[in-house]
Amino acid sequence: MAEHKAAMVVHGGAGRRPVGDDGERQAAVRRGLDAGWSRIGEGALTAVVAAVCRLEDEPLLNAGIGACLNDEGAVELDAGVMEGTALGVGAVAAVRDVRHPVELARHVLEHSPHVLLAAGGASRYAREHGVELADPSIFVTEHRRAAAAAAAAGDAGDTVGAVARDRSGRLAVAVSTGGVTAKTAGRVGDSPIAGAGFYADDSAGAVCTTGTGEGFIRLCLAYDLVTRLRAGQPARDAAGDALAALRDRTDGWGGLIVVTATGEIVAEQNSGHMPWASASDD
Ligand code: ASP
Repeated sequence: MAEHKAAMVVHGGAGRRPVGDDGERQAAVRRGLDAGWSRIGEGALTAVVAAVCRLEDEPLLNAGIGACLNDEGAVELDAGVMEGTALGVGAVAAVRDVRHPVELARHVLEHSPHVLLAAGGASRYAREHGVELADPSIFVTEHRRAAAAAAAAGDAGDTVGAVARDRSGRLAVAVSTGGVTAKTAGRVGDSPIAGAGFYADDSAGAVCTTGTGEGFIRLCLAYDLVTRLRAGQPARDAAGDALAALRDRTDGWGGLIVVTATGEIVAEQNSGHMPWASASDD
């Protein structure tokens, strides 16, 4: 019998949009979950990275291929990973030519003395360490070109993320995004900022957020939520309070997924929409 119950949650972003392709987004999230859950035996970190790596290839979601465009019509990608045992963090911001930003983030976690690399320096690090690069044009889709023409600047959506607890009781989180539509080139959101867009601590829980990144950064929301869990607040209440603070204190909106230190799963949003899927030993 497994010593700890394994559990995993994956989301495809809390973007506000007219109903239309919800089924396709949900199916994409399900593929991400399958890719991650099939690796849970290799540990929580490997599982969440596998899930997010798969989702970076889903053109409907705002990460990797199909990420939203900035105000120069280019894709700039952010990603982050954290493991909750040693509190290891790796993140990359505003990269344009890295095939899988989440894999580069994991490389930073495991091999760099730093926690966050950005832009050209992050690309150089990838090149020097054999992390796959890509022609920036592969990330740009017609769907996002049309969205950029139609959407208001700052519209967010479809960021991807995963949280997991493995059978050793270790927690991990991974997140990847193109940010928000028509963002100022160089803008970095919450997704590569530990404590804002993601956090994991084996003693409390792992959290991944999606939505208006500036609000998550101002509230240090992922860390705040983990702190609530550590203090013993029930996970669903803690998630609800965190999202209420996002709305009331910053006029922000979004969603989040949580797996607690005991393997409890929570997925909440206040945007009206967030495809998510979960698996557990239950
Ligand atoms: N939080 C992301 C950002 O602000 C966007 C999103 O999750 O939709 O970059």
